[in-house]
Amino acid sequence: MKTDGPIVIIGAGEAGATLAADLARRGNSLPIHLVGAEDCAPYERPPLSKAHLEPDEIARVVPLFAGGDIPDAIIHHRGVHALRIDRAARTVELSDGQRLDYGRLVLATGAASRRLPIAEGIVGIHYLRNLREAQALRPLLLAGGPIAILGAGFIGLEVAAAARKHGTAVSVIEPQARILARGVSASIAGKVQELHERNGVAFRLGTSVSTIDRSGDTIALILSDGGTIAATTIVIGIGAVPEVALAREAGLMVDNGITVDARLQTSDPAILAIGDCCAFPLSIYGGRRVRLESWRNARDQAAMAAALLSGEAIGEMPLPWFWSDQYDHGLQVAGLIDEGGTEILRRPNEDVLMSFHLAADGRLVAAQGFGPGQAVARDIRLAEMLIGRGARPDPAFLADPSVKLKSLL
Ligand SMILES: Cc1cc2nc3c(=O)[nH]c(=O)nc-3n(C[C@H](O)[C@H](O)[C@H](O)COP(=O)(O)OP(=O)(O)OC[C@H]3O[C@@H](n4cnc5c(N)ncnc54)[C@H](O)[C@@H]3O)c2cc1C
Repeated sequence: MKTDGPIVIIGAGEAGATLAADLARRGNSLPIHLVGAEDCAPYERPPLSKAHLEPDEIARVVPLFAGGDIPDAIIHHRGVHALRIDRAARTVELSDGQRLDYGRLVLATGAASRRLPIAEGIVGIHYLRNLREAQALRPLLLAGGPIAILGAGFIGLEVAAAARKHGTAVSVIEPQARILARGVSASIAGKVQELHERNGVAFRLGTSVSTIDRSGDTIALILSDGGTIAATTIVIGIGAVPEVALAREAGLMVDNGITVDARLQTSDPAILAIGDCCAFPLSIYGGRRVRLESWRNARDQAAMAAALLSGEAIGEMPLPWFWSDQYDHGLQVAGLIDEGGTEILRRPNEDVLMSFHLAADGRLVAAQGFGPGQAVARDIRLAEMLIGRGARPDPAFLADPSVKLKSLL
């Protein structure tokens, strides 16, 4: 699939900027336009809820382009929104008045924080999706809080860990009965919760916020179980919604993300979609459609798009993989845990827990691990290989830490 006109990429985040860099590196001869709404050079998002918020770190930004320099081959439209796509004319209208022609268009618009309606307009309420929001949050953690975090997902828990490193008092409020209810098993989530509790985080699970009131410097949260919490800063981490407005307006198929096929093609063959904004089929799970909010997925799909736009063959969509760092611990998840009916636990030592998920036919379909530093990284890599090969390992071997996973390959 060779392109025959400029390549326009909308969204200069992980997926869009990685794709542009890859195309430039390949010596692509067509103009590459990278349109980004944020008024800064493209940067890595994962550190925003980790190193960026920590006390001993200069609030540094990790650039997406090596050395922070954007290659000459890329025309970066910085601080500019793509407003409209005209599919018949193959043009994109920008907020600065320009109109770009495209041969191929790539949507890499990412996702936006899910908003909590009762919190709108209240001073002291924060979300965390971009650099500007991280820069606003950091001094508030240094100021000492107390802070309340709504939502016990990855972002909320990473902010909680960073806040505790500042010594800031933290409460986490979650309507579900447990933390990390989406995408992580109860066993692993239990270990994560223990670590947070050891570090002084107070959890209020199975309750939601019914009223938010600000008076002076204090924000009072009234909970559905009748409890109250007072804080100076509220961080809301209740998930993200894919940025699909442009695609929808242009008449592209959208269903929990911009619908693409295994070649990342939308319902218009001239338009691809990659990263957090797209929903794609995973052949390893029988073509099940998923939308992932994951750094590696954004980069993998950027690499696939670069190959496709250069007329090269591509392989299968890679296995989902996600990591999170909290305190000095790392959590990794490979595969989709809800594909497996049976969970097998392995405890290499008191600090480390691995969990394997087997489908009804015995196939390993997902693995998770939680432990200090990089303790689980190697086993997760091996588990990814087992999943990729459709292995049916003996559950007794999976549970036994003395059996090396490598020997099951
Ligand atoms: C705080 C934080 C921490 C994270 N930590 C982890 C982690 O530990 N592990 C992990 O696996 N993943 C993590 N992620 C997820 C990971 O960063 C995302 O999956 C990844 O950034 C997705 O890349 P993307 O390019 O699809 O979207 P994004 O990186 O969100 O980029 C989309 C860009 O498109 C721009 N845009 C949208 N609409 C328009 C428009 N109309 N015109 C112009 N520009 C537009 C947006 O402004 C944005 O800059 C984290 C995310 C956040 C926010």
